[in-house]
Amino acid sequence: MYQAIVGYHLDSEQHWVAELRCGHTQHVRHDPPWTNRPWVMTLQGRKSMLGYELNCKQCDSAEAVNTTRQSETDTGNKT
Ligand SMILES: [Zn+2]
Repeated sequence: MYQAIVGYHLDSEQHWVAELRCGHTQHVRHDPPWTNRPWVMTLQGRKSMLGYELNCKQCDSAEAVNTTRQSETDTGNKT
C-alpha cells in the first residue's frame, strides 16, 4: 500500500528512516550502487520528498493479519 512520507528521523545506526502517513516507518538508505537515494543526504532533498508515496509493506502485512484476526473474532462471537 502506498503511503506518503510525513517526516524523517535517524535510527541508532545513523540511517535515515521515513515516517509514513500510516504511522509505519521505512528506511530510506543512500547505499550506492544498490540503493541510490542522494536526496536523503540533504535537508532540502528530504523536504522535497515530503508527500512522496512509498510502498509500505508493513501496511500490506498488517491488513493480512487484520483479516485473519477478524475472521477469528467473528467465529468467537458466534460461539
Ligand atoms: Zn504502513
